[in-house]
Amino acid sequence: MNEARHHDVVVLGAGVSGIYQIKRLVDLGLDAIVLEADEDLGGTWYRNRYPGCRFDSESYTYGYSFSRELLDEWHWKERFSSQPENLRYLNFVAEKFDLRRHMRFDARVEAMRWSEDERLWRLRLGNGDEYSARFVVSGIGVLSTPAMPRYPGLSDFEGDAFHTYGWPQDPVPLAGRRVGVMGTGATGIQVIPAIADEVDELFVFQRRPNWSTPLGNAPISEAEMDEIRSRYDEIFANCAVTHGGFDHLPEPRRFRDATPEERRALWDELYATPGFAIMASNFPDIFVDEDANREISEYVARRIRERVKDPTVAEKLIPKDHGFATQRLPLETNYYEAYNRENVHLVDLSETPIERFTQRGVQTTDRHYALHLMVFATGFDAVTGSWDRMEVRGAGGVSLAEKWRDGPSTYLGLMTHGFPNLLMVAGPQSVSGSTNFPRAIENGVEWVTRFLEHATSRGVTRVEAREDAEREWVREVVAAQERMLLRRSRGWFTGYNANVAGHGEGTVRYLAYWGGAPRYNERIREAAAEGYRGIAMD
Ligand code: NAP
Repeated sequence: MNEARHHDVVVLGAGVSGIYQIKRLVDLGLDAIVLEADEDLGGTWYRNRYPGCRFDSESYTYGYSFSRELLDEWHWKERFSSQPENLRYLNFVAEKFDLRRHMRFDARVEAMRWSEDERLWRLRLGNGDEYSARFVVSGIGVLSTPAMPRYPGLSDFEGDAFHTYGWPQDPVPLAGRRVGVMGTGATGIQVIPAIADEVDELFVFQRRPNWSTPLGNAPISEAEMDEIRSRYDEIFANCAVTHGGFDHLPEPRRFRDATPEERRALWDELYATPGFAIMASNFPDIFVDEDANREISEYVARRIRERVKDPTVAEKLIPKDHGFATQRLPLETNYYEAYNRENVHLVDLSETPIERFTQRGVQTTDRHYALHLMVFATGFDAVTGSWDRMEVRGAGGVSLAEKWRDGPSTYLGLMTHGFPNLLMVAGPQSVSGSTNFPRAIENGVEWVTRFLEHATSRGVTRVEAREDAEREWVREVVAAQERMLLRRSRGWFTGYNANVAGHGEGTVRYLAYWGGAPRYNERIREAAAEGYRGIAMD
């Protein structure tokens, strides 16, 4: 048996959260290390290598803001940067601040157990190595456990098949092949148009359509990048005061304050504006008011009809079961035009469900589709999936998966009662899932770092969220979600996933805080300013 290696802090995951968290802990002078399951850093941007994978956030709002030097040195080449470039960026950051030496790769934590006597966490990796740490800070991300569908005969299929999260590092041949894509969420909507002109035939197996609006990507020239650099303070200030953490300022009018012509004019403008403007700068009540939401949904449906030549296909691409932006809105580049191609075929699974996979392809109730490659863009066991797959035992041996069986319960998305000395950056019930991820991550890292500084400088060896403080936060999380029309949607925002046991229809989870980034940041700042009243320390 190996002897456990001890550190003051173990950080889980070398993605966007872990990279910044380790920098701050090392700056603080703590003995900290990152344990990363993959063979290299990057998290989401290391794993999602599928064609078309890119930011939906403006690149310059996605990068870290903590270092002026870094902001000055890095040139984002596109307004919405692609996965290879994003991975290069994260490597650039790690090299610049010499962070790799604090990271261990191929280090998947399988189990962690709180040892009350020693006041530390004991962690066991997949390879049997053991670590111990006074504090564990998690940066495991909210979309890092892919979910595969459960169809009969899946393992019989002899062609290539993989989930987009596991897209191989080696080039995947597409030319001349018959390819199937299952899933029309943000991932499917990116991958479908990106491969449509390369493959021989493309079959999209759609269960339910999603709303989607244009991304508006474009290159960023040297001159434009200089201009962006000169505005960085303003850009990050905008992100800090807007609900979703984007550089799109809110529309001051409410839906009912505007005439139908004025609404139409605003929506025409927003539809043509890159990025999430159509959400962030829309009338705020489209997210909470049925009538407002119905009208914007009708508007976007019209735009889809204008772009898809075959009216039958257009109708199949328009969601009928949920309103605009009540599930995570994917942004698209020529997605609707892909269906105007002769080699792209929409297979509507609501009309002709899949019966089984076969050795050669997919059998629906209507016909057999022979395929060389099947791509599963079927999403994730979101937010709590990665926690559920680790054996985490807190005070008294309580299991985290058990505690969170019907949904997570946290204090400010940062801690959970019964699991002392465990901190979460971008945890469940924070704003990481509901706003521009890295903006939330930076705030989370800052909070965790200051808290650890506060605790360690006072010789505190045990910290735990108080039960009543957690209950109060969960109440606020629930109330915020219940105000939104999205509360009824069947997507990962509400914890719905038919491929994951216990996450099917009828179960609603409260996975993210929907009160907006500014209010969330105010709450966590207050918690610190009040001397961390919600946390027991000794
Ligand atoms: P997703 O939004 O959960 O979509 C999964 C898709 O797979 C849905 O269309 C779903 O259909 C379908 N599906 C699942 N199981 C199926 C089955 N058994 N049979 C047929 N269809 C099935 O997953 P995602 O597209 O990977 O996106 C997840 C999140 O990742 C996004 O919401 C976003 O936050 C993030 N993301 C971000 C970017 C970006 O920033 N640009 C890009 C990609 C992903 P139903 O709707 O019927 O369940």
